[in-house]
Amino acid sequence: MKRLTSAILGVVAALGIFLIPASPAAAAVVNLAPSATASASYTSPWESVAAINDGVDPPGSNDTVNPRWGTWPNTGEQWVLLTWPQARTLSSAQVYFFDDGGGVRLPASWKLQRWTGSAYADLPGTYPLAANAYNTISFPAVSTTRLRVVLQSGTASVGLLEVKALGENGQQSGWNPPANLVTPLNEVWQHQESTYPNLYGFRNYGWDQIMANRGSVNYCVRWDSGAPVSAALRDQIHAALARQFKKWMDVMVGHNGWPYTNVPVKVVGWAVRDRAQLQWSDNSVDIYVNDIRENAPQCAEACGRFFNQSGNYPNCPGGASHHYDMSLWLTAGMGGGAGGDWGQRIGSEYYVNSLNADNIHILLHEIGHTFGLDDFYDWTPTGVGGFLMKAGSASHITDFDAWMFRDWWRHLRNRYGY
Ligand SMILES: [Zn+2]
Repeated sequence: MKRLTSAILGVVAALGIFLIPASPAAAAVVNLAPSATASASYTSPWESVAAINDGVDPPGSNDTVNPRWGTWPNTGEQWVLLTWPQARTLSSAQVYFFDDGGGVRLPASWKLQRWTGSAYADLPGTYPLAANAYNTISFPAVSTTRLRVVLQSGTASVGLLEVKALGENGQQSGWNPPANLVTPLNEVWQHQESTYPNLYGFRNYGWDQIMANRGSVNYCVRWDSGAPVSAALRDQIHAALARQFKKWMDVMVGHNGWPYTNVPVKVVGWAVRDRAQLQWSDNSVDIYVNDIRENAPQCAEACGRFFNQSGNYPNCPGGASHHYDMSLWLTAGMGGGAGGDWGQRIGSEYYVNSLNADNIHILLHEIGHTFGLDDFYDWTPTGVGGFLMKAGSASHITDFDAWMFRDWWRHLRNRYGY
């Protein structure tokens, strides 16, 4: 049940990315833009409106690395809109302009608007207009479900690299574990902080994946076996994965501002050595044949989040909707398992023989790792007995596992604007 730390985690840690502080108390000022849906008056086909609230700070206005929003060749009045499912209280915003020195330049002027419920109203203030920096504007706090950035083009088309909408997170702390779990939960969190220096810098936990998709996850199956797979078995493998994944998601429903009641699991692809192993001819999933990595069939890297952590999949043949966040890697003859941000690996015979089991406990344990949960090979938190993440001591998600899971959300939710 080894926890495999991803190579990317190691690289980022080596660069010494700074830690952000742990979640502050209720009503802290945070960037609420990442929890909004972005749309625009127009987006050039090669750009992405999702760039404006992806949480990436641009290196400069002529950013050639990260996703961008731009309107070339369109000019005149152009806008981007952030829409939240519930009203948010905003008190300032920061806007970073896209300017490539050619077809996309700084606008002649710009302004912010809020939605009153029936119309857009301008937000008062002085609007700075600078390249290579965030342009900050503060205004009296407003409650709104929509924030619009309206640009009037100048000498060329216009664009934005990032928009931050700053306001109170507005959530009372929902952190209320049972009294007997407070001490062991604190021990676990402190142990994780001291073991993983990049705990807060890493951005590919299961949490990040769900938030990037706004409430779903995509899987690709790596069928590391010579056995054939019927269409019925394919669907059972999907259904069992969805049932097990749901057990972790159900831990979060209604807890501490978690926004989803259901997180659908889609299986978008299968990787095999030989196409003839897959006994179906429909095109309900993408099929990757004999692309061998780590001695196992691999789904296309161009479509995998592990390899494209910006969340863009420009070289994925089916486009972003065909991307996979994780692999379910099923290996013939394997005992135990491994889990991480890349997915979960377990024995194919074990999994197929467990398809109807209530708890496929090795898979559950490995999914726990995907969401940051640690192993407990060499220590046990004070006062808790058997639990799933202490391998071999429980075969289902216990109360303690559930609270360790929720503790990750407590510490990461700010990065998504919750
Ligand atoms: Zn483990």
